Amino acid sequence: MIFKETVLRDRPEGGAGAGATMPFPAGSKLVDPFLRPITYLRVSVTDRCDLRCVYCMDEEMSFLPKRDLLTLEELDRLCTAFVRRGTTKLRLTGGEPLVRRDVMRLFRSLSRHLASGALKELTLTTNGTLLARHAQELVDCGVRRVNVSLDTLDPARFRRLTRWGDLAKVLEGIEVARRAGLKIKINAVALKGENEHELADLMHWAHGEGHALTLIEVMPLGELTTTMRSDQYLPLSLVRARLSKQFTLDDLDHSSGGPARYVRVKETNGILGFITPLTHNFCESCNRVRVTCTGTLYMCLGQEDAADLRAALRASPDDEPLDQAITEAISRKPKGHDFVIERRRSEPAVARHMSVTGG
Ligand code: SAM
Repeated sequence: MIFKETVLRDRPEGGAGAGATMPFPAGSKLVDPFLRPITYLRVSVTDRCDLRCVYCMDEEMSFLPKRDLLTLEELDRLCTAFVRRGTTKLRLTGGEPLVRRDVMRLFRSLSRHLASGALKELTLTTNGTLLARHAQELVDCGVRRVNVSLDTLDPARFRRLTRWGDLAKVLEGIEVARRAGLKIKINAVALKGENEHELADLMHWAHGEGHALTLIEVMPLGELTTTMRSDQYLPLSLVRARLSKQFTLDDLDHSSGGPARYVRVKETNGILGFITPLTHNFCESCNRVRVTCTGTLYMCLGQEDAADLRAALRASPDDEPLDQAITEAISRKPKGHDFVIERRRSEPAVARHMSVTGG
């Protein structure tokens, strides 16, 4: 492991809460109004992506100007503030996290929180296109598991779903990551009329390679101009019923602390997860919040309410305003979301795309 004291700094040494010196000063742990401890932070490090998955982004997307983005130093400072307040799991996401220039510098710096024991897990969600290049360094930074999004093993369908992606690059990335020792979970969005009849094959492949597979219902996030959400939406209750005809699905208590419910598939001896934000609301055990690459904190993936942490970060080299803004925002965390996909209601539940909030 690298775990060197490579702390990212862009301000004078010694500001309170600089996060550069360990151990952290005592700070109260974050607990929301429903007494859920907030221990999981997902941070989108860029809104840009090298793919344009049809359910995630429009073909024509306008991306944020670079000056609006938090610097790597600010991202480090922000993550560190959350770690100080009880975050034990940190996931970098996007957009595509690995397209952010120098993102490995951020991983290297954040790995100090693994070394100190404050953080239990540092991980990422990626589309896999750049994984071959970065897998070994991720392992060296203490990353142990990665989620790779992959909806199909058919090269033509992959190209269509991602608008131009090359499946071979992703499969190579997954293989290099596996050989480097990373545990891999494949995440696939179940899409009506697209991959719905391929999901059993995808599961066979994933389990054969030793990877868990999680299926996800498409969520009504962001306006799509070329497709209707209701044309994409495939309830996982239906997928599960279909798979049950071919496979023995034994419910597991096993939880990753997330919204997925898991089964062990007897025939493949692999783990299959279902994330069902529409057919089953999973908010009661929610322990997570998300920060965008501009420092906007969303307390719920499916609600609009947010807090501007960039202003607090930039207000002072001291972390006091940031800490206060975080505390105040968590006190407004809602009980849950209420996604609905209906043919007669075409507007999204929230206007921002998943690539903005960070999936
Ligand atoms: N680029 C990275 C990746 O591909 O994993 C991270 C960001 S991506 C937005 C994170 C995850 O969100 C992917 O698994 C993607 O399939 C999923 N996703 C995007 N839009 C979605 C939607 N509307 N409903 C459900 N999942 C979505």
